[in-house]
Amino acid sequence: MSHKEKLELFWKIVNLINEKHFDNKLIVNKICLFEEPQSKNGMYEGLGKSINIRDREEVDAQCITLCHELAHAYQEQILNKYYFEEMQKFGGLMKMDKWNLEEMFHGAKFKEVHEMFCETMKEIMGVQKV
Ligand SMILES: [Zn+2]
Repeated sequence: MSHKEKLELFWKIVNLINEKHFDNKLIVNKICLFEEPQSKNGMYEGLGKSINIRDREEVDAQCITLCHELAHAYQEQILNKYYFEEMQKFGGLMKMDKWNLEEMFHGAKFKEVHEMFCETMKEIMGVQKV
């Protein structure tokens, strides 16, 4: 699959998730593919509201990464009050250690949302394969 085709597919997934779960209120300005072998599989960048996906894996794995980064967009844009309150419980962001941060950003609430997005994503992937 070419870069262009991949990006088209990723936008299709983002748009469907946005429409189905957020009434199109989630902001995603940009989706980029990058090639850095040592890097993470993906990143969500809150300032520019952009999603970066490492272009190395199989497209199925990249779609799961896309849903992961979208769940971070959801945390930042829609659940920010909830996460702010969670941080306060630990005495603020600066006082949190790696374990606390990992628990907060990838904890139960995150997993629930990620799974929900993956279900929606599979609706599109199912159609693609026919
Ligand atoms: Zn993450």
